[in-house]
Amino acid sequence: MLLRSHRDKISLPLLLSCGHRLALSPVFRPGAAFGSQGIPLPELGPAHSQMTLPLAAARAQCPYCGVGCGLDLKPPEPPTASTPAPEPLWTARGDRHHPSSLGQVCVKGATVGETLHRNRLTTPLWRERTDEPFAPISWERAMDLLVERIQTTLATRGPRGLAIYGSGQFLTEDYYVANKLLKGALGGNNFDANSRLCMSSAVAGYARSLGSDGPPCCYDDLDVADLVVLIGTNTAECHPVLFQRLLKRRRRGTDAPRLVVVDPRATDTAAAADLHLPIRSGTDLALLHGIGHLLLQSGALDQTFLAAHTEGFEKLEPLLRTWTPERAAAVCGIPEASLRQLAQWWAESDTALSLWSMGVNQRREGTATVAGIINLHLLTGQIGRPGAGPFSLTGQPNAMGGREVGGLAQLLPGYRAVGNAAHRAEVERHWGFPEGAISAEPGLAVWEQIEAMEQGELDLWWVAATNPLVSLPSLDRVRAAVARCPLVVLSEAYAGTETAAVAHLVLPAAQWSEKAGTMTNSERRVTLCPAFRQPPGQARADWAIFAELGRRLGFTRQFTWTSAAEVYAEFVGLTRGRLCDMAGLSHALLAEHGPQQWPFPEGTAPGGGGARLYGDHQFPTPSGRARLIAEAPLGLAEPPDDTYPLVLTVGRYLAHWHTMTRTALVARARKRHPGPVLEVHPADAEPLGLVDGAIATVRSRRGSVRVPVRLSEAIRPGVVFLPMHWGASQPEACEANRLMHELGCPLSKQPELKAAAVRLEAGHGHSG
Ligand code: SF4
Repeated sequence: MLLRSHRDKISLPLLLSCGHRLALSPVFRPGAAFGSQGIPLPELGPAHSQMTLPLAAARAQCPYCGVGCGLDLKPPEPPTASTPAPEPLWTARGDRHHPSSLGQVCVKGATVGETLHRNRLTTPLWRERTDEPFAPISWERAMDLLVERIQTTLATRGPRGLAIYGSGQFLTEDYYVANKLLKGALGGNNFDANSRLCMSSAVAGYARSLGSDGPPCCYDDLDVADLVVLIGTNTAECHPVLFQRLLKRRRRGTDAPRLVVVDPRATDTAAAADLHLPIRSGTDLALLHGIGHLLLQSGALDQTFLAAHTEGFEKLEPLLRTWTPERAAAVCGIPEASLRQLAQWWAESDTALSLWSMGVNQRREGTATVAGIINLHLLTGQIGRPGAGPFSLTGQPNAMGGREVGGLAQLLPGYRAVGNAAHRAEVERHWGFPEGAISAEPGLAVWEQIEAMEQGELDLWWVAATNPLVSLPSLDRVRAAVARCPLVVLSEAYAGTETAAVAHLVLPAAQWSEKAGTMTNSERRVTLCPAFRQPPGQARADWAIFAELGRRLGFTRQFTWTSAAEVYAEFVGLTRGRLCDMAGLSHALLAEHGPQQWPFPEGTAPGGGGARLYGDHQFPTPSGRARLIAEAPLGLAEPPDDTYPLVLTVGRYLAHWHTMTRTALVARARKRHPGPVLEVHPADAEPLGLVDGAIATVRSRRGSVRVPVRLSEAIRPGVVFLPMHWGASQPEACEANRLMHELGCPLSKQPELKAAAVRLEAGHGHSG
């Protein structure tokens, strides 16, 4: 596997997987492309894209949602003498050997090959001011700029003047090196990621109730649960392969689980349910307490489990007693009989599984609601057994890997916390930094980073592999804040994103398929994703960019890796003895034996990782007991009122992914969802004279958008729905998140992106 020169063709042996075995290490080594200080930098990609693609097949985890399906990828047909060079389209299909998906794939995964080469950034770009055009610069110049500005900031303002905002699209190795650079080398903890918008309430909820982050369940639980409760998740569109697995079992009939869906909209997910509870937005916790009340009243609690393995019942019980079914049903706006039905099914079920995603997490009381779900499982002993447990569905493909490496502002690798002195000391030792190198002060979560920019307190904001100028709430405020930051850096694979419009320095990033590394999906399964395509132009792997910068800043000893496999080996050493123990994993093992679930301590046989957590009912709290949490429901942070009488909720379409940097390039996705549509109940549309297809202005306290209307009885009166995908750069621009507010959960710091008060205006009017 040798590179003779940048202009030579490379001849790579097959990366083809065979069963679970990859024929060889997925790492290819283009050589010392821009190394400094004599250290070669493999995997950075060549300086110019003169290299012939390595035509090989590969297996990898899908780079879209957290289901983490396995993909079989086949290379483009090579051009022949008689046919002109075709568009180099890799084809993807489900990998039947991947244990998480067993060959299934949705439209996003199946079309990912169409997105890999289009609209790519190929060279670093720079401009002094954001009203100037970008000009190409060399990597040398880009690195010099970064070193100079970081050193100046450290000297004048200290590490609090620097912040990185990363992504669940990072591979674990990217996450790890970025965290080591900022938290270890530079001594600041302002590393946050878009998982803050996605899963941080689940992280905080698991940690508070069970003693540690970490989803306790696995996908096989869907095959054996008696009762499946989907709360705050449109699984049919957002986690489609899992949903199909569930439907398949239900179609088999004989052992079909009962399916309950809690959602203000009658989504495709709800249409498949035995019972749909279209609760008022923001009343999930009241519903959960109402169920708890009925379980208590009916004697359905597992007293043995409660006595031996939990604490806090004495506080929870009196709270639950106040949530009578009459009160809970009235607050939730559902028939009392529906509430009673769900409680009865829960009590009757040997195994109950709860799944949730953004509808629970993106809430001002997200952490409390996660605790409300876990409470029900603890009250009835429904955890740590096949088919039973609380199970968060991750949004991003590697948000789980990010959590494992400490990729949020309050975390350190191995499910450790910045605020814990022993944890800091362990990580400092492992990283090779002196005692006290890691600050004890938690860093800024992403909205705090925005506020810091508003105050002129951030000198450098580095965004990587995400597009916050579409995905953050209150976008006008974000734009104004970012404009005050002297240096905005964007590491990105694709050209022309909304975030590039506010950046000074743009770095071309190698993306999934062009760099080796690992991802962890929602069921704690780690998949090695090989590099099977050449990065375009001068694009570099994110981890390699951060490592190079670390060396140039003088930390040569701490950033010496020559491959992603070495980065991973260092990382898993930090998980030894922790709940997320992966010390037995390596790139080589994953390449040879395929995806593995953790816990996977050293010495674990391939396939022998932990399918579930807490089988022994011992929890990583000081007492070893799980905690029942008693919190009174608060409702929405911005409830509807006379001026803004409706609740706007935002969500996703099946074929599009987040801010469409990839899926806007797929004709099938655009055809299926040609543009955003506002779903409105006829009862809310009629007084305004809104008919199907009419243009409505949706106005909140933060701005307005204009969008076509679709009348639908599938949405609860008083609620309207918009997709969040379309940003300002799209022809059908409709910045849904511009309307949303930033108020979030005080524990998880996750904004309440699921609900804002709005009003509708018919017809004319411009957005503004
Ligand atoms: Fe990819 Fe998610 Fe679709 Fe699976 S369900 S193919 S992981 S987008």
